[in-house]
Amino acid sequence: TKRFDVSRSFKDVFTGNHPQLQAVSDVDFTLAPGETLGIVGESGCGKTTLGRMLIKLISATEGKVMFDGKDISEMTRTEELEFRRRAQLVFQNPFDALNPHFTILRSLTEPLHNARVPREEHGQRIAEAMSMVHLPALEHFLQSFPHQLSGGQLQRVVLARALVLRPDFIVADEPVSMLDVSVRAGILNVLREVRDTMGLAAVFISHDLALVRYVCERTITMYLGAVVEDGPTAAIVENPLHPYTKALVQAVPIPRVDQSHAPLPITGGLPDARNPPSGCRFRDRCPLAEARCAAEIPRLREVGGGRRVACHLVEPA
Ligand code: SF4
Repeated sequence: TKRFDVSRSFKDVFTGNHPQLQAVSDVDFTLAPGETLGIVGESGCGKTTLGRMLIKLISATEGKVMFDGKDISEMTRTEELEFRRRAQLVFQNPFDALNPHFTILRSLTEPLHNARVPREEHGQRIAEAMSMVHLPALEHFLQSFPHQLSGGQLQRVVLARALVLRPDFIVADEPVSMLDVSVRAGILNVLREVRDTMGLAAVFISHDLALVRYVCERTITMYLGAVVEDGPTAAIVENPLHPYTKALVQAVPIPRVDQSHAPLPITGGLPDARNPPSGCRFRDRCPLAEARCAAEIPRLREVGGGRRVACHLVEPA
């Protein structure tokens, strides 16, 4: 079976102006085919860095990302070429994702060319991908340029460009955050359809729990580079266990779609990742913090119901 594993103690260390900034650590999860995993957290929590590690745009300095049983850092050139075809990223900003000087046809053809897909298959692949995102594969549309399309159409093209390679795994990083609220639902529905029809494994990164709930069966919450809660999305939304997830849920009344500017019902911002608090990283903002929270790092542990939580106060069922 195809599985994707990210092992514990997974660190990304940036250098330069911020020596030893550990952007992501203590992350481990497995993703199965057909499963959509949401990753939620505030800006700066490490979710985008993690998404880029999963498709090898950034390399982890410790730990492993396993794709179909193979460590992606140890792939041969041939294996990596195949990995680049099978694992795709859908960018956050469709206005930047496409080359403004390329027609839509050229933007869709380029990945096929790079993946060495035979030329005679290009037309069928492009028609198939355009159909999946509900765009017309008509000549006049394919010959248009990005500036001639709306934001919603552009994001569908960006999605089609990922799908044209028939991937097994996609990472969608805040795919609707730059779009008008009026067109977001259409893109989210396409993501759901693609998940159901193609059996893709997908990671959906968002700060908005309401959007994650709409698309993902399972969700992990990240705080300051670490996973603090993991479980079925419905259970997390209806009964969050970690104090940080509780704050996220309170900040995002679920019936509303756009809560991007809703303040968290906790004080302060994310601590400096170069100098995180001792013990629990959330303790400076946690209303329930007690003495041992400063002394002991809470480990992510099974608490029943397919859930894992990293908090001293949440006991295994
Ligand atoms: Fe709050 Fe302590 Fe739990 Fe951390 S371990 S979330 S500080 S109660």
